[in-house]
Amino acid sequence: MFESLSDRLESVFKRFKGQGRLTEENIQEGLREVRLALLEADVNFKVVKQFVDRVREKALGQDVQGSLTPGQQVVKVVHDELVELLGGKTSAFDVKGSKPLTVMMVGLQGSGKTTSAGKLALYLRREHKMKPFLVPADVYRPAAIDQLTKLGAQIDVPVYPSSTDMNPVDICRDALQVAKDKGYDLVLFDTAGRLHIDERLMEELANIKAAVSPREILFVADAMTGQDAVNVAQSFDAKLEISGVVLTKMDGDARGGAALSIKSVTGKSVKFVGMGEKLSEMEVFHPDRIASRILG
Ligand code: GDP
Repeated sequence: MFESLSDRLESVFKRFKGQGRLTEENIQEGLREVRLALLEADVNFKVVKQFVDRVREKALGQDVQGSLTPGQQVVKVVHDELVELLGGKTSAFDVKGSKPLTVMMVGLQGSGKTTSAGKLALYLRREHKMKPFLVPADVYRPAAIDQLTKLGAQIDVPVYPSSTDMNPVDICRDALQVAKDKGYDLVLFDTAGRLHIDERLMEELANIKAAVSPREILFVADAMTGQDAVNVAQSFDAKLEISGVVLTKMDGDARGGAALSIKSVTGKSVKFVGMGEKLSEMEVFHPDRIASRILG
């Protein structure tokens, strides 16, 4: 994850750190390279511009401080700004409040919704002793219901018995009642996706939202699709007001453009990242740790 961006920045900063004194010219040249590295990583160009402007302002304006060399100081400014870009503080997933906690997973087909629903069920059961209930609400692909049903059996989590002749809104409404009756305190709605955004899908998702008033609407995005993921996130947010993002397939994403753009563009934080196909391979997204990882 982030390997190519990390390598690029490392070579820029290696030169920087070695210099005893930094002139305005050195800083400008370094920032030109940082800009290129971010653009190559497929970060949104407006986001790159704002980022570089902020780093320039801080790097040129700062006094020389204690133990850091001027080069190290610039690296620290870049680190701090990367943390901001990634969303600042870790965006906690609030498990308190009324139960059941309802979570709607939305996103394009193949983004990793179903896998992420299973990962979240496992994670919240392990970390917060929650009793999850999985709800397959994609009735258009018979395989989708099967997939979640198998996944539930694999991790021993009950799954609502949806069938393809049911209406997705009814499925979700009824499943919520079942969860309340049976005392499940976490309900994960795995909704349908399409290869592209379409109006009917969006309408259906809006109807499900109205029927179950989910506490969280997590937009699931494939990190490897870069700026496309960011654009699709914007569309889903405009229609559904998402509460956060799950970025999947980060294990295969060497560039990191989606992770570095999505908060600035949509205003919504990445809450979890998928780091592999296995159900245990999901992590809470910590902006500071990720920034440190990028800067090596
Ligand atoms: P859905 O159509 O949105 O429900 O997507 P799926 O959950 O079926 O996932 C599509 C494919 O992506 C499957 O082959 C998953 O195993 C794979 N996948 C999901 N999340 C990750 C991840 O974090 N890393 C990797 N490498 N593969 C993932």
